[in-house]
Amino acid sequence: MARLRIDFDLRSKLLRASGGTINLCYQCGSCTASCLISPGLPVRTIMRKAQIGALDDGSSWKCLSCRYCEVTCPRGVRISDVIRGYRIMLYENKSVPERLVECLWKIYDYGNPLGAPRRERLVWAKGLEVFSSGEAAIYSCCMNAYDKRLQYAAKSLVEVLLKAGIKVSVLEGENCCGDVVYNTGEEYYLEELAQSNISVLEKLKPTVILTLSPHCYNMLKNIYPRYGAKPPAPVLHYTQYIAELITSGRIKPGNLNAKVTYHDPCYLGRWSNIYEEPRTIIQHINGVKFVEMEHNRENSLCCGGGGGAFWMENIESRKVTRERLTEAKNTEAELMSTACPYCIRMFEDELKIVRYSIRVVDVVEILRESLR
Ligand code: SF4
Ligand code: SF4
Repeated sequence: MARLRIDFDLRSKLLRASGGTINLCYQCGSCTASCLISPGLPVRTIMRKAQIGALDDGSSWKCLSCRYCEVTCPRGVRISDVIRGYRIMLYENKSVPERLVECLWKIYDYGNPLGAPRRERLVWAKGLEVFSSGEAAIYSCCMNAYDKRLQYAAKSLVEVLLKAGIKVSVLEGENCCGDVVYNTGEEYYLEELAQSNISVLEKLKPTVILTLSPHCYNMLKNIYPRYGAKPPAPVLHYTQYIAELITSGRIKPGNLNAKVTYHDPCYLGRWSNIYEEPRTIIQHINGVKFVEMEHNRENSLCCGGGGGAFWMENIESRKVTRERLTEAKNTEAELMSTACPYCIRMFEDELKIVRYSIRVVDVVEILRESLR
């Protein structure tokens, strides 16, 4: 008979990681039923194992950290925090998917998980009127910095800000925010990364720090302070800042005749409670006909790329991507907008297979298009 190994120290750590909520789980199974990659992930079993301090067999690597299950949990269990607690344990036991280990080494060697040269980090900003200090510091995600398609979103943000008369600065010496490091369960290097990014930001003396990616937003705003790295200015996702510029009249959106839907990225929505600002931007563009998808706001589906799945390219997560794209197609929108570089990449990659006639765009890209 197979024996279960119990670790009381692990049990205490998981209890702490969940803010004590794991003890509230009464094994109803709603999480397993609602999990976006179910039946691939036995969430209820993982929660039971956490309650008693049993080791995980590695299934927690499949989690997308989307928090969709948490919306359905009647006991308020912080499921994704428990799963990350297990990932820390697996990391300590050197039981980590190879693709994530590769990412960690690339971040260590090059400052980004793509393995792109450090000297090219700011190539995206070439030709734009940006400074080495200024009112708004843009923390560009590794994806927006290096991926040619996603550089367009970063450029669009700068151009929109310049139109509002805002002096923009970019970070010489910026490294990856460490989202994938965090999701891999690594603790010590994460602290080093956080400190190094904050010291770069301090030199810019910004009044506000803007992120393009909700993952960077979460890291800088919520995770870094836990590692003693406090940002020198308020951290905002760019949609928050631009929505305010629009409602205060500093930016006047132009025209764009298109039917547009919006996908809530998990790290902007369920993780950060930012639902209205992207919609405010879209709905202020003249000529836009805005339509919601069946699942929206806190019930939004996931792009399939969170929790490191983007880097692991697992099959279960592609199913999630396709399901969301199908919802977007069903709205008959011409544009599927979102506000996360990972979501854009996941959807655009899958579109190459399903070939729906819908274009995936960043919210700031359609705002910029309207201003032309
Ligand atoms: S939904 Fe919540 S209470 Fe129910 S099994 Fe899952 S974690 Fe436990
Ligand atoms: S966070 Fe998402 S992928 Fe992970 S268990 Fe919950 S629903 Fe499933």
